[in-house]
Amino acid sequence: MIDTHAHIDDEQYADDIDSFILNQQQAGVSRILVPATNADSCLSVLSLCARYPDYCVPALGLHPEDVSDDYLTQLQTIHSLILCHRDRLCAIGEIGLDYHFSTLYKEQQLDAFRQQMQWALDLDLPVMIHSRDATDDCLRIVEEYAAQGLRGVMHCFSGSYETAQRILRTGFFMGIGGVITFKNAHLALTLSGNGRPPIPLERLVLETDSPYMAPVPHRGQRNESRYLTHVIDVLAHTYNTTPDLINRITTNNARQLFHLS
Ligand SMILES: [Zn+2]
Repeated sequence: MIDTHAHIDDEQYADDIDSFILNQQQAGVSRILVPATNADSCLSVLSLCARYPDYCVPALGLHPEDVSDDYLTQLQTIHSLILCHRDRLCAIGEIGLDYHFSTLYKEQQLDAFRQQMQWALDLDLPVMIHSRDATDDCLRIVEEYAAQGLRGVMHCFSGSYETAQRILRTGFFMGIGGVITFKNAHLALTLSGNGRPPIPLERLVLETDSPYMAPVPHRGQRNESRYLTHVIDVLAHTYNTTPDLINRITTNNARQLFHLS
């Protein structure tokens, strides 16, 4: 199992990080990819990943919810860190658009998103994309950069079948996490195609979005990468196959997308 999106630099893990990592390893998690959200978190992500080299792999970027008046300064700092640590990074992330709480910084979010997509293209790194209430703007930009060869993942995918088709056409992957275990979520039905062709397993990667989005039966708790087994079980049921096959395919997808050894 590879957890392609976990904010384990979060303070909720600070007190027991060594045993936490050991628990994930023992449960069969082979890698944890750790995205940053702003300049400060780039530093905490880098130091966490330096502590567990070859296990925790950093991604650096400016999250849309962290875009405000100082975003150009933030981008400048993050860009120098990216250039400095290029060889250790698995991706630029997490970046994207989020109009959920406010569109006050919409123009700035769009600018930050485009700048970081261009960095990824220039450095030949994939991107981890966060999109909330901004599907159309986000996909238009993804389509534009994908046409130039950019690769990446739409993290925490929970969109419609039509959105999934649009993502498939860009060559991007979809990050699947705890949402698929939620009773009222339509994600499993969407992935199964519900009478139409299913979304190919070859385009899915697993992620927790820890500490958030813990799957059933851990909902409400601090999330952990090892809980991905619950996501795998639902996927196995959805695709009418075995958990082992889901695990093997999604692990392989993550290796390929993020160039992990
Ligand atoms: Zn995230």
